[in-house]
Amino acid sequence: MLSAFGRLRYQESQFSQWQMDVSRVPAPPFGESSRAEWLADRFREIGLAEVQIDQVGNVFGIRHARPGSLRANRFVSLSAHIDTVFPTSTPLHIHQQGTRLYGPGVSDNSAGIAAILAIAAVLGSSQVLHALPFVFIGNVGEEGEGDLRGMRHVFETPRWRDSIAYSVIVDGAGSDTVVAEALGSRRFEIVARGPGGHSWTDFGAPNPVVVLARAIQALSETPVPAAPKTTFNIGVIRGGTSVNSIPESASMRVDLRSTSMIEIDRLERALRLALDRAMDAENRPAAVRSIRRHSTVQCEIVEIGNRPAGELDPASRLLKVIRAVDAHLGNSAIVQRASTDANIPLSLGREAIAVGGGGTGGGAHTLQEWFDCTGRDLGLRRILLTMLALAGIGE
Ligand SMILES: [Zn+2]
Repeated sequence: MLSAFGRLRYQESQFSQWQMDVSRVPAPPFGESSRAEWLADRFREIGLAEVQIDQVGNVFGIRHARPGSLRANRFVSLSAHIDTVFPTSTPLHIHQQGTRLYGPGVSDNSAGIAAILAIAAVLGSSQVLHALPFVFIGNVGEEGEGDLRGMRHVFETPRWRDSIAYSVIVDGAGSDTVVAEALGSRRFEIVARGPGGHSWTDFGAPNPVVVLARAIQALSETPVPAAPKTTFNIGVIRGGTSVNSIPESASMRVDLRSTSMIEIDRLERALRLALDRAMDAENRPAAVRSIRRHSTVQCEIVEIGNRPAGELDPASRLLKVIRAVDAHLGNSAIVQRASTDANIPLSLGREAIAVGGGGTGGGAHTLQEWFDCTGRDLGLRRILLTMLALAGIGE
């Protein structure tokens, strides 16, 4: 055990090398395949078994339980998302200055990828035995429009859905948080379309901009609870042709968030009702005044994102374990609410947390992103102890 801890400190140069190497392999949303290949090669090099890439591009590698374990069909998973927010054209200038690494994605989530490689490598070169096997996963599709598709697929695959007992997710830098509450979100694009027309001669034709404006007005007055915290946002609005045209179309993007699925459902109903009423109000006089057929405004509502909410039971084994590990390490960490890959297992009632990969980082989702390796070993020890405590070493 001591030797494993020692390696987590003394192999830092290897960890930062992996971190820079992986950052140089582009992984835009829906374009993660070369990074997946890179990670599969590293998984093989460090001795993980049954290394494979599934049909959506998730990478898996296994470390078996100790021989004779009776619980070898229940896994502890350690995962990190491999996708970034950066489009293919982004120049990936990754460089190191002292203990700091710089470049797009270097912390989110190359720090997570380096962490799972570090844990797998250190276990591989030590004699530590454990009763539950480990599955290491580099998953696709965590960021933005990826909409958690990688982790969703893991938990739709019978082999993993039925066997992963605990999910530990590494996302970004840090050792001082544990995400145990999954912030859910549902996102819509709403396109309102009407007959359009000339501002003077077609006056009275229903106006898609006005429909959206009425709906926004109504939605913005919808009460939301402070607990569970629930929010909504109209983030983008577009539409129209010119100042003297009645628009043929207008669109908006709406983001609804809560830790409670009930509140998200309630907000979605409020949004749909607001749109129905706005169309009624705008179309009714138009039906009387206009002589043109099909002259009403209609709305198309397209769901563009759906991240389920969930919460780790305060009495769960996983929360007790991470708290005990933090107490043992003298590490003070706070429980946080966020949207991560943990949303998927948590929404299914499974035990899952997301933590950082140690060190510190900043500038996520910008070209100025950085990661500082100082103190990375604390974050890694925290993850390793959590994995071993979950897996059990005796029996
Ligand atoms: Zn991330």
